[in-house]
Amino acid sequence: LLGASGAPAPTIFEEMTALAQAHGALNLGQGFPDDEPPRPLREIAAAGIAAGANQYAPGSGILPLREAIAAHQERFYGLTLSPATDVVVTTGATEAIAATLLAFCTPGSNVVVLEPFYDSYGAIARLAGAELNPVPLHAPDFQPRLEDLEAAVDENTAVIIVNDPHNPTGARFTEATRRALVAAAQRSGAVLLADEVYEHLVFDGEHRPLAAVPGAFDRTVTVSSGGKTFSATGWKIGWATGPSDLISAVRTVKQFLSYSSGPAYQPAIAEGLGLPESFFRERAASLASRAVLLGDGLESTGATVFRPQAGYFVVADLAPLGVTDATALARRLPAALGVVGIPVGVFATPPHEGLYASMLRLAHCKREDVIVQATARLRDGLPSLASAQKG
Ligand code: PMP
Ligand code: GLN
Repeated sequence: LLGASGAPAPTIFEEMTALAQAHGALNLGQGFPDDEPPRPLREIAAAGIAAGANQYAPGSGILPLREAIAAHQERFYGLTLSPATDVVVTTGATEAIAATLLAFCTPGSNVVVLEPFYDSYGAIARLAGAELNPVPLHAPDFQPRLEDLEAAVDENTAVIIVNDPHNPTGARFTEATRRALVAAAQRSGAVLLADEVYEHLVFDGEHRPLAAVPGAFDRTVTVSSGGKTFSATGWKIGWATGPSDLISAVRTVKQFLSYSSGPAYQPAIAEGLGLPESFFRERAASLASRAVLLGDGLESTGATVFRPQAGYFVVADLAPLGVTDATALARRLPAALGVVGIPVGVFATPPHEGLYASMLRLAHCKREDVIVQATARLRDGLPSLASAQKG
């Protein structure tokens, strides 16, 4: 977790957001939306604070939220969960991920991740004393090769992390990939950690939870969060769901991480989970159209764009512009062009970084005018910045 100098290193998101602020740049880096949470949710949270919901919530989360999470899993996926034993509310998906990895890893365990991967997976696996075993995803569709998966998983594998829909690529995994992941977990005895925070931001068709793959449920901890679905990333209300024995282990760790999570936000997220289908459809459609806007804009720079199927982000390969090191470029972009993006290489480990070295992730969960302005700046400035970098 330390940087090259040995001092604690800020995450890439903090570093890039600080650059955005320092240069007044358009921040298409960190994944937080320009949208506000639905008004009724904001009113519930504000009324909660005014009415005294200011002391510790129950450690597992307030019952109405656990009921709403269970009802949501039944309504959207046909998965039946007991709010009493199969659901734990966490301080964002981040805490659910940490509690799950800490619950099931011991020093020397293997954690298999599909790479590139969200930064907290590697940090927490290392805090748990585990080794990471990354399986690279390959452009353009960002699926793993099944033989790589086969080779990565062994009897030491404690957890296989499956982030679907996927950050940073916006990919969704095929049925063949999902079945292979479940089979690998069955063979090795590993727990599946399904990070599905982008479950409602699927552009075409429906999200399919990993826990619904035949044979998966009994070994799957599913993690999600109200942050992305309800445009409330700062509220940090997440959850883990699954069979009671796994959730009991997650709950045991969670109680010593944060103990409990924001009591005023919990009834607001419970309300959100019960909103009509039209809310979820409109939210996904709004992001889908902004992904097209950003993708078209990036394509007009000459970059190769991997169109996302879900989520907050578009990945562009800048290799056609002559960029070989998108990390160096990303550090110059805020000052040079007033735009912030996140290099995809930072989500990868040294053996596979090269696969993603020329790729940049840009967030489309921003206002349309911001996307239009940012892509205009890139179209005008990127070719000469890229060739200056080459020279
Ligand atoms: N997993 C993934 C894949 C994410 O992109 C994020 C948010 N950036 C999280 C987990 C963390 O979610 P939360 O903000 O609810 O902790
Ligand atoms: N999940 C967000 C992203 O990928 C950022 C979360 C964070 O800043 N830790 O951009």
